[in-house]
Amino acid sequence: MMEGGGGEECCVKVAVHVRPLIGDEKLQGCKDCVTVVRGKPQVQIGTHSFTFDHVYGSSASPSSSMFEECVAPLVDGLFQGYNATVLAYGQTGSGKTYTMGTAFKEGGHTGIIPQVVTTLFNKIEKLKNETEFQLHVSFIEIHKEEVRDLLDSSLSMKAEAANAGKVTIPGKPPIQIRESSNGVITLAGSTEVEVRSLKEMATCLEQGSLSRATGSTNMNNQSSRSHAIFTITLEQMRKSLAVPGDGNVNECMNDEYLSAKLHLVDLAGSERAKRTGSDGMRFKEGVHINKGLLALGNVISALGDEKKRKEGLHVPYRDSKLTRLLQDSLGGNSRTVMIACISPADINAEETLNTLKYANRAR
Ligand code: ADP
Ligand code: MG
Repeated sequence: MMEGGGGEECCVKVAVHVRPLIGDEKLQGCKDCVTVVRGKPQVQIGTHSFTFDHVYGSSASPSSSMFEECVAPLVDGLFQGYNATVLAYGQTGSGKTYTMGTAFKEGGHTGIIPQVVTTLFNKIEKLKNETEFQLHVSFIEIHKEEVRDLLDSSLSMKAEAANAGKVTIPGKPPIQIRESSNGVITLAGSTEVEVRSLKEMATCLEQGSLSRATGSTNMNNQSSRSHAIFTITLEQMRKSLAVPGDGNVNECMNDEYLSAKLHLVDLAGSERAKRTGSDGMRFKEGVHINKGLLALGNVISALGDEKKRKEGLHVPYRDSKLTRLLQDSLGGNSRTVMIACISPADINAEETLNTLKYANRAR
């Protein structure tokens, strides 16, 4: 069965990242059930065949080219003022965090986020004579339709107090997603940290990963049930060239100011709630998580549908916190890449097929 196809331009690019079999799967005697078609961006599982913009993970298309092909163009776009979003989708254990580099450790594997930051700093270094730059990052998670600030240092104090059985310290008011009259989405109340080096960025990632909500399930005891969103905002101000003899020193009105943001999203596990097979509370989390992923699927699919877009179709951004937050960075002039992460193991075949179907809807 042939699914997907065409090669038509779309505002959302979809790539698949197939990780190798990992230790646990090998120990269980799992077989590799995913085939990457040589020379084509195509994957096969059972009788299903899917074509995407890119497929990575085999020796023919190593994941080292993923950054250059999928993400570097988005980083370039930031300098022209275009917002962008990179999404890692897939079941728990499929390699989302590994691919995204959300849990960055110095000396460890370098995922997308550290590569983005390195590329940004290199570009800034080259352009800094003509332009002044500022980089800010924020790191939040959406858990059960609530936005949490992962860079709020008072959170770790609160956790300690809770562990010690003390009454909870009243925290800051919850973060609110706001939309300005010109359609710019802001997160009121979230911590924005200025970063000047890869090291400062790494500190933010580490702090954020530590406070990220994790819960135990059958699937993976470090399973993350939340969407983690690392946002980089690039502001630039072109230095105005002094006009000699003009006598007006305060002439900075023609300065060109640009601001653009890149969201790097490590989505919650896409597996069905029932597969985690645990108590009612987990199931509720599953329902909420599906709400975000469901809304995302609907938004991206609406954006990709050229015909409907021309008819002025309503894009259902408001259906979840996730899509609401990403609203000004999905569609329109912004660029979006979804990376569907999959395990090649036969025990995961059902979820892998679900992931490929979801990703296929996006193009
Ligand atoms: P997720 O975030 O989707 O739950 P992880 O990124 O934590 O999954 O990956 C699960 C496991 O697989 C980790 O032990 C990780 O190191 C390993 N892994 C993921 N992707 C790769 C890859 N491309 N190559 C080697 N190991 C990988
Ligand atoms: Mg993860």
